[in-house]
Amino acid sequence: MLDCYDSAEFAVRSILNYIDGNFVRGKRDFADMNPADGSVIAQVSEADQNLVDQAVSAARKALWGEWGRRTVRERAASLHHIAHAIESRFDCFVSAEVADTGKPITLASQLDVPRAAANFRAFADLIKTASLESFRTETPDGKDALNYAVRKPLGVVGIIVPWNLPLLLLTWKLAPALACGNTVVAKPSEETPATATLLAEVMKEAGIPDGVYNVVHGFGPNSAGEFLTTHPDVNAVTFTGESQTGAAIMKSVAPSLKPVSFELGGKNAALVFADCDFDEAVNGVAESVFLNTGQVCLCAERVYVERAIYDRFAEALKRKAESLTVGWPLEKSTDLGPLISSGHRQKVLSYYQLARDEGGTLVAGGGIPHFGNALDSGYYIQPTIYANLPETARCVKEEIFGPICHIAAFDSEEEAISLANNTKYGLAASIWTTNLKRGHRVAQQMNVGITWVNCWFLRDLRTPFGGVGLSGIGREGGMHSLNFYSELNNVCIRL
Ligand code: NAD
Repeated sequence: MLDCYDSAEFAVRSILNYIDGNFVRGKRDFADMNPADGSVIAQVSEADQNLVDQAVSAARKALWGEWGRRTVRERAASLHHIAHAIESRFDCFVSAEVADTGKPITLASQLDVPRAAANFRAFADLIKTASLESFRTETPDGKDALNYAVRKPLGVVGIIVPWNLPLLLLTWKLAPALACGNTVVAKPSEETPATATLLAEVMKEAGIPDGVYNVVHGFGPNSAGEFLTTHPDVNAVTFTGESQTGAAIMKSVAPSLKPVSFELGGKNAALVFADCDFDEAVNGVAESVFLNTGQVCLCAERVYVERAIYDRFAEALKRKAESLTVGWPLEKSTDLGPLISSGHRQKVLSYYQLARDEGGTLVAGGGIPHFGNALDSGYYIQPTIYANLPETARCVKEEIFGPICHIAAFDSEEEAISLANNTKYGLAASIWTTNLKRGHRVAQQMNVGITWVNCWFLRDLRTPFGGVGLSGIGREGGMHSLNFYSELNNVCIRL
């Protein structure tokens, strides 16, 4: 269906919905743009209510078919086959992801696509060893019983994901959902429909029965996203995206009381103490601010530095930001590709302007780069640092989701902790210090779902992942995912 995106010249192609093992055209198309040069790379077929109904009913039917009869061991083997099939089409996935997102090819090939395969392997291995509790009950009146829990699938799971790490985030949810025996209707972002569709071909190759994995394309409100979340035969919704969208989805699922797992936005802090390894901290903080052009939920947009090293650190971070290469994603030397869309660039630029209006001092960047060639049609933006904004400034409070941070000084550990926690979000924090005790002490006081000490973005897939406050509901990762994507039935047997 989708051939390999194997060159910088992308022919216009069709990206269709995938329902019950068939590629299906809807009534309307929308354009899939390459953010690197603003060209149209595909026409995407939007799923209307009728197609979403068909996808959900295919998923429901598949629950009770061959897939439902597969043992845990067989499902685990299927997941390994999917991982293998992704790797055998590695270059196709990389080029499709680069074309859709504009992210550097180095990032797609070192992070996005390998992590997709790793997600399937991790949950294939975990489901085989996942144990459940059992209790012997002896009541005072002499009754004796054995209790044990049985893990069952939730049913049809609706997966809705954003555009920043399209394949990585889809498979992060899909792999445990399949491991637990569910069937799935996935709705990728309207900005990045390609790799979810390519994955449909992989499912066929890996021997996954028709109807187990379905893909519907479209938007949120009054489109495929809303049709999926409000569908009475969808048993659970797992969503990654903006906090406001999470709130809208929560409303849609409320009447049917569907369980939800929400991985939402962030306004993450990096705390740099004077006792840090200076170069390691500069490089680590720069990566945490600018990776994927700042379009990672875990990116730091607030950098707090102990006053003793503030000036030196701000100068080093500025030099680092100015040394980054913004450019064509297929060049191996590119550090930052474009933002995802013209609309998103407008939004990020409006925050660059707002930072000035709010009294901020520009340290680095602040505008859009000019190339004098075709790249000027892409949605590039300069890596940017501001200073001297009050803590109440909107730029310090609101998630921007671009390559921008605000840098400020702190005078004590207590102040650093209070500044980091002064947000309605609570996804991630990073702490840069060589004092082991301080690292532990401060980390445990961060009001977030994940805290890094002297690193950023490192993950063991078995660990809990999620956020507090506006950053999400629930945890995924390892057993936390298996517990969300399954229902436990406790069996109690009188002995
Ligand atoms: P978004 O919320 O605009 O869209 C995400 C998905 O939801 C898309 O597929 C979209 O079509 C769909 N959608 C939108 N409105 C909907 C509705 N009413 N009903 C059903 N579906 C709807 O997010 P985005 O702009 O694509 O992604 C960026 C956001 O994602 C940022 O806020 C970022 O922090 C967040 N994010 C969070 C994590 C995490 O793990 N916490 C990871 C990546 C991105």
